[in-house]
Amino acid sequence: MATKIRAIATINPATGEHLESFEPFSTEQLAAVLDRARAAYSKWRTTSFDHRAELMRNAARVLRSQAGEFARRITLEMGKTIVEAEAEIAKCAWNCDFYAEHAEQFLREEPAETEATESYVAFRPLGVVLAVMPWNFPFWQVFRFAAPALMAGNTAVLKHASNVTRCALEIERVFKEAGFPQGAFATVITPGGEVASLIADERIAAVTLTGSEAAGISVAQASGKVLKKNVLELGGSDAFIVLADADIPLAAQWAVKSRFQNAGQSCIAAKRFIVEAPVYDAFIEAFVAEAKKLKVGDPFDRATTIGPLARADLREELAAQIDASVTGGARVALGGHRIEGKGYFFEPTILVDVPESAVVFNEETFGPAAAVIRASDTDEAIALANKSKYGLGGNLWTGDIERAKRIAAHLESGGVFINGMTASDPRLPFGGVKHSGYGRELSHFGIREFTNIQTVWIGPAKGAAQKAPASE
Ligand code: NAP
Repeated sequence: MATKIRAIATINPATGEHLESFEPFSTEQLAAVLDRARAAYSKWRTTSFDHRAELMRNAARVLRSQAGEFARRITLEMGKTIVEAEAEIAKCAWNCDFYAEHAEQFLREEPAETEATESYVAFRPLGVVLAVMPWNFPFWQVFRFAAPALMAGNTAVLKHASNVTRCALEIERVFKEAGFPQGAFATVITPGGEVASLIADERIAAVTLTGSEAAGISVAQASGKVLKKNVLELGGSDAFIVLADADIPLAAQWAVKSRFQNAGQSCIAAKRFIVEAPVYDAFIEAFVAEAKKLKVGDPFDRATTIGPLARADLREELAAQIDASVTGGARVALGGHRIEGKGYFFEPTILVDVPESAVVFNEETFGPAAAVIRASDTDEAIALANKSKYGLGGNLWTGDIERAKRIAAHLESGGVFINGMTASDPRLPFGGVKHSGYGRELSHFGIREFTNIQTVWIGPAKGAAQKAPASE
């Protein structure tokens, strides 16, 4: 681990003003956090589900009782609207309650019929899990991981995105005020470049990353080198397929919500709108009309529907992707430019007639920019949807549900939302395939990711003597 790294600063993206600076943890501070997390694990793993559930419900109460302050902090540090930030806090509290209620059932021992006197599968915790998290949903991404991981008996160390460091410290405070023992959940302040050495540390048992493809590759490499379990929730370029028999006005309304919520900075936002030829023009007209209703501005103003992008460099990257796509043949139907003045605002943008070769088709766009692509028929729409290195979520709009179910089987993505918008939900598994990562969060699948699925076999074997195993 490094000894001296330059200070981490947070900036209000709506104004460009400096908020706070934080000293990265020294080697000694990092070691102390890992020691405490490891020590806490040895006790926490033996606690009852009832005890863990009580503390998790407390965490939900802390979130709800201070929702205004937490939401304000989110908006200040990464710029989403205050209305969206409040909804994010409410969702975190729901997730805490959900796992408080269901963890025991999700991890109940499963009996298995074999020749053994008794055999069953048990779900044991793994140890200290390192969570490397992104800024776009700074509370939700963390609670999505932490509630199930803690309920399963693990302890957690959070390395959050540097631009939301105060949020990271506030999340640590939530667990402290909820009564979790010291070390059960701790935040470390350290840059992304230090993650590999944390993964290699013997006190860390496993790692989860929600972030970009590039960070995913480095976390996968670092965990591969030391053979540690990892879960990767990475980027996406979700298709939003509109078939000829879809309800166009409704599809257009949800297209706007799905692409432009959180100023377009969502991994599961619809990014590529693939529209069947007979409704192509009608969909564009409705989509543009709906998008014109968006209100860009001060994220603390409750009438605002789009705040700034979270960082100056992200705005520059989006502008470059749009410019390159226009040069490559896409046509601007709405927006397309930075908004001059204070803060990192960008016009809601819709590019149409986007060719397959365009940057916005092939790369993830993390901002308020939609790419509309024409498909001659359903088969071509499916082929275009799958023509992406990503495979996170996806949307399909049609009047024929039975046909939609058959089409879903051909879509290479971790989720397919028919006549609706892709969204994470504690009751459903969440995750991707291809370059969108591997492993699942949420539901019973998510809580089992950071467990040792242990087989317990108790002899003597029934009936005939136990056969000598022929092989492993
Ligand atoms: P990012 O740059 O990958 O950062 C995510 C986290 O990884 C941060 O904590 C960052 O720390 C750290 N990090 C950066 N480089 C690293 C490296 N080489 N090794 C280890 N850790 C590293 O991503 P972001 O810009 O914050 O978030 C946007 C990306 O996340 C998008 O691609 C989006 O699609 C994806 N995302 C995916 C999901 C999902 O559930 N699939 C959800 C949300 C976002 P520093 O901030 O200190 O650099």
